[in-house]
Amino acid sequence: MRLIFMGPPGAGKGTQAERITTAYNIVHLSTGDLLRMNVKRGTELGQLAHSYMDAGELVPDDLILKMVAAEFKDPKIENGFILDGFPRTVAQATALDDFLIQEGKHLNHVLVMDVIDEKLVARLTARRTCRICGRSYHLSFNPPKKPGICDNDGSELYQREDDKEVTVRNRLAVYKRQTRPLIEHYMKKGMVKHIDGVGTVDEVFDRIREVLGPCD
Ligand code: AMP
Repeated sequence: MRLIFMGPPGAGKGTQAERITTAYNIVHLSTGDLLRMNVKRGTELGQLAHSYMDAGELVPDDLILKMVAAEFKDPKIENGFILDGFPRTVAQATALDDFLIQEGKHLNHVLVMDVIDEKLVARLTARRTCRICGRSYHLSFNPPKKPGICDNDGSELYQREDDKEVTVRNRLAVYKRQTRPLIEHYMKKGMVKHIDGVGTVDEVFDRIREVLGPCD
């Protein structure tokens, strides 16, 4: 199964993508996670990308396309994938279309998670992330057992620079301006399925499963 997962920042794509990859045995390819890993490791890509990310702006297409092309070379994607946070611009979508045509592959669905802006701001500004494993928590709805400490590995939790309110609002504006037009691009191909992203993780996952069909 090959999927694109779209939706504004904070819609819960990362959390749901993890559930989907486990249930359907496909690879989760998150360009945001890949970029954060590069920033943490201090790679050349990380150094080029980090100021865009901290400001909530998109990283230039050429850097993203190079990074994604390298991931697509990995045989692990043969079983299927869910693209989370990619494509985000028309240029990226066109490059993906070309790649899929070249490989004789097609997408099954483009899932779009819908959540209203004020809920997104509330979710993102209360998000805390583990410095080591990247797991995220919500201060009210999904707090860690010990404040400030990751349940998974006991490491420190922090607030991502781009989860601060000014940046969150900019990320939402960037999404509306540059990424939302892609929904139209995929609607023309008849691939878009909207998912109501408000509810518990299980409720939202059940809605996704209804669209994707049985996992076994
Ligand atoms: P995310 O975790 O998906 O919200 O991504 C965090 C940040 O990484 C974004 O605000 C962008 O700065 C950058 N980023 C992630 N994916 C892309 C992409 N496909 N194109 C451009 N920038 C991206």
